Amino acid sequence: MPEPILRLQHIQKDFGNGPVLHDLCLDVYAGEFLTLLGPSGCGKTTTLRIIAGLEKPNDGQVLLDGQDITRLPPEKRPINTVFQSYALFPHMNVFQNIAYGLKVLGVSRREQQQRVAEALSLVRLSGYEKRMPTQLSGGQRQRVAIARSVVLRPRILLLDEPLGALDLKLRQEMQVELKQLQRQLGMTFIYITHDQEEALNMSSRIVIIREGRIEQIGTPEEVYDQPATLFAADFIGQSNLLHGQVTVCNLDGTLTLQVGDVSVPALLNQNYAPRPGDKAVLCLRPQQVRYGNVPQNGMTLTGVIRSNEYVGGMQHTQIALGGSLVLRAVSQPAETDGRAVGTEVYVGWNLRHAPLLPEEA
Ligand code: ATP
Repeated sequence: MPEPILRLQHIQKDFGNGPVLHDLCLDVYAGEFLTLLGPSGCGKTTTLRIIAGLEKPNDGQVLLDGQDITRLPPEKRPINTVFQSYALFPHMNVFQNIAYGLKVLGVSRREQQQRVAEALSLVRLSGYEKRMPTQLSGGQRQRVAIARSVVLRPRILLLDEPLGALDLKLRQEMQVELKQLQRQLGMTFIYITHDQEEALNMSSRIVIIREGRIEQIGTPEEVYDQPATLFAADFIGQSNLLHGQVTVCNLDGTLTLQVGDVSVPALLNQNYAPRPGDKAVLCLRPQQVRYGNVPQNGMTLTGVIRSNEYVGGMQHTQIALGGSLVLRAVSQPAETDGRAVGTEVYVGWNLRHAPLLPEEA
């Protein structure tokens, strides 16, 4: 493993009403697009502000390239922040807004012009130098805010919900642009969102935070396919969460979960080795559920189609298994042939793609 560019070491933060960050440890590597994801109030912004130097931790260290910067003021850190409220200087045009930081640093006029031109080209706003902020759309203003940070060539760019104020379509366009920009610059981005889809689309790694603690760190595929906890499974994507009790554990790693009146097969995994009698939850993504008129994935479960709807190009199906268990399945219409409500079908899934998780108290 390379050395991290940034290391948060046992960070504690308390504003006086109890801890907000508990012993938070995190390594960030050069060139990553790392996203902090979690519900409102879990401590994402506080973490970012501690990295920026805008907040001091009560305990713990912030290391940049191995140097302790915990007490270094924000302006001395090679770290910049783009906020959701992009707050451009209203009386300055685009060029002046972007050049401002360079001017403060005493960069020559000529170099300012060259670097502003480069930054504008990166955010696809060449030719907009003389526009005033009021003459720009929301997306353009946010791009100027990003250019204003990028032009300073920070080691790390912090982005606190930078797309939060944009409408959905623009937000999706900007997601693609930001990701491209990050790749082009090879700069380390630490990004905050509470939108799990945005996190899955953009990040190289996602840090799921819950009440000031890291719940899971992984690539988008890892956190989606192998959630480590029920919270992570529930927070990211849609799932069938099958709450039950482990009844059988076999030596080959297979086990049986009793869910109401249905016995469901599962596998041991690296995160959790349950014992008979344990309460556990199977996380089954709707895209993993297969059904048809022959047994699926070697399983013998059967169910009855409860509903079948065509939504956004995909077939959304509910299948009742036994008296109380209803599974949601999402499939390509061609795969399932739009089976009628009331049809009995075999149901199955790849056990490796349905992790078993400990039940939460
Ligand atoms: P959101 O998604 O809503 O922005 P967040 O995950 O970024 O939430 P933080 O802003 O880090 O959460 O806040 C974490 C907790 O710390 C919250 O309970 C918040 O009320 C509290 N908090 C943050 N800043 C302060 C402050 N300056 N003084 C007192 N409490 C604060």
